[in-house]
Amino acid sequence: MAAAKKSRIKAVAMLSGGLDSSLAVKIVADQGIDVVGVNYNTGFCLTDHRRRMAGLGRPQNSGPLRNEALRAGAQWRIPVEIVDISGEYLSIFTEPKHGYGSAVNPCIDCRIFMLRKTRRMMEDLGASFIVTGEVLGQRPMTQMPWTLKLIERESGCGRLILRPLSAKLLPPTLAEEKGWVDREKLYDFQGRSRKPQMALAGRLGLTDYPQPAGGCCFLTDKNYARRVRDLFEHSGKESLSAAQVLRLKVGRHFRLNSRAKAIVGRNEGENLFLKDNAEGTFVLDCPEVPGPLTLVEGKPLPEDVELAAGIAARYSDGREREQVKIEVASPDGGHRVICVPPLGSPRADKMRI
Ligand code: SF4
Repeated sequence: MAAAKKSRIKAVAMLSGGLDSSLAVKIVADQGIDVVGVNYNTGFCLTDHRRRMAGLGRPQNSGPLRNEALRAGAQWRIPVEIVDISGEYLSIFTEPKHGYGSAVNPCIDCRIFMLRKTRRMMEDLGASFIVTGEVLGQRPMTQMPWTLKLIERESGCGRLILRPLSAKLLPPTLAEEKGWVDREKLYDFQGRSRKPQMALAGRLGLTDYPQPAGGCCFLTDKNYARRVRDLFEHSGKESLSAAQVLRLKVGRHFRLNSRAKAIVGRNEGENLFLKDNAEGTFVLDCPEVPGPLTLVEGKPLPEDVELAAGIAARYSDGREREQVKIEVASPDGGHRVICVPPLGSPRADKMRI
């Protein structure tokens, strides 16, 4: 009788599909709770990006190309909803109330935003609490005792959040107090070592999960952050478009001057990606020799476009020629062909962002 009552309790789990959140889901599901996973697409997920690049015919590396949240959901037999928050997320990224981490990662605001969404989903589904894979002390920005509290408070989720991996080190939450989950069957993991989680994964039969050490978010990447800061400085945050942010993910970037920058594709996949996201830019192509697709964004003067053409020529198979022919398509639909000498390395390297 008691078991039947317990099985009606539902929880929504924030599921990235990494080791920690996969374990958290399994621990709670094993206590007879109906768990529904939610996975948020911020637009900055490295794995999603790699999958997209692979779809363009050129995987950037040999990393996993599947959606890890769906993989975890399939393994534990729980439904997973993928929610696209990339549009709304732009303002979190540009104006985080709690600032950035070591790169341009607004992790505190990000967690608050996602938890608010999860709470709404919890209410819509008639679920009773929220599960996360957070581990006390694992991440300096969001998983210290005081930041956990701050995030609980500002998200409005408070004691609704159960963190099964560290629950024994934290005050009892609603799910424990109500007896929906047995606190004794939760864990006391803390710190950056993943060894306890790996051992638990072994015990639970979880062998197929992404490497815990791998980065998963563009916003924590130092190279990406450098490009973001350059864009904020020269274009401002207010008029930032989604396409501009997308373009930061690929290619070689060159700051030509305060008016304009150039982005040069590094392979066929990046050329296609840039072509798909060329909105508002000058598009430069090499018609006579194999070469990169190059975009010029900002408010370039004709000499800026020629400078970018010189950079494009440098990365083309015509780099040893005196002149390389470059086709230029402008945002207003104009079209012209110019011949430029490939730009020398020292000058181009100086402009590299
Ligand atoms: S690394 Fe930070 S900004 Fe990126 S998804 Fe995680 S919490 Fe959000």
